[in-house]
Amino acid sequence: MRPIGIIHSCYREKFGIPRQPGLVKSARGEVELLPPCNREEMFKGLETFSHIWLQFLFHEAVGDGWRPTVRPPWLGGKERVGLFATRTPHRPNFLGLSVVRYLGMRKEKGKLFLDISELDLLHGTPIVDIKPYVPYSDRVEEAANGFVRFAESEISVRFSPEADAACRQYEKECGRDLKTLIHEVLKQDPRPASQRKQQREYGMLLWEMNVRWLSDDTGFTVLSVDERDKKMP
Ligand code: SAH
Repeated sequence: MRPIGIIHSCYREKFGIPRQPGLVKSARGEVELLPPCNREEMFKGLETFSHIWLQFLFHEAVGDGWRPTVRPPWLGGKERVGLFATRTPHRPNFLGLSVVRYLGMRKEKGKLFLDISELDLLHGTPIVDIKPYVPYSDRVEEAANGFVRFAESEISVRFSPEADAACRQYEKECGRDLKTLIHEVLKQDPRPASQRKQQREYGMLLWEMNVRWLSDDTGFTVLSVDERDKKMP
């Protein structure tokens, strides 16, 4: 297989990426189509669909290998289940599958892009196939969520005045609503299950910004939002 495209994403590192697509509505990205798949005619008609399936390579998991069983965060990070009962990136062929919102095709500087949102993919992810999502057969009303217990997060997310100002400045400069993105990402609680009870500081990259936040009993506080190069040691 050869990649047909490559993802440009707001997620610049693995930490912070939601566990599935559709959870962070303001996540934005694009598929840069690569030759020989950068021809408009290959996507004619795709604009009639609102969502698409992306099949991709978990390229940053390949080096770590895989194990037959894993500890999914839904089970408190303690209980093990079979890898094929999960959506873990660490699988024998490292293939991922995500349904994302399709916003349309764009041409820029001789390159062809598909704009997407609500993704859960890392920047640089190689895409191996694209298909329309068709609810008439893909949506399964009576499907069970298994051991995945998804509940709206109760975590409160606050911003320090400095972080708030930095988000507003960023939005002024490049038109991206970084504050909403940070808010939605933190609401998903990206902390590993084993660290849920500790007070701790975390850092994550969104676009080219380094976001520092503190977790304690009262919730999460975004401390600062700085350009990546200014990252503290
Ligand atoms: N919806 C996909 C992905 C689920 S796993 C599927 O079901 O196949 C989601 C996690 O994959 C994210 O939390 C992120 O940390 C990780 N991830 C996303 N892109 C990746 C990549 N290119 N390499 C390794 N891990 C990646």
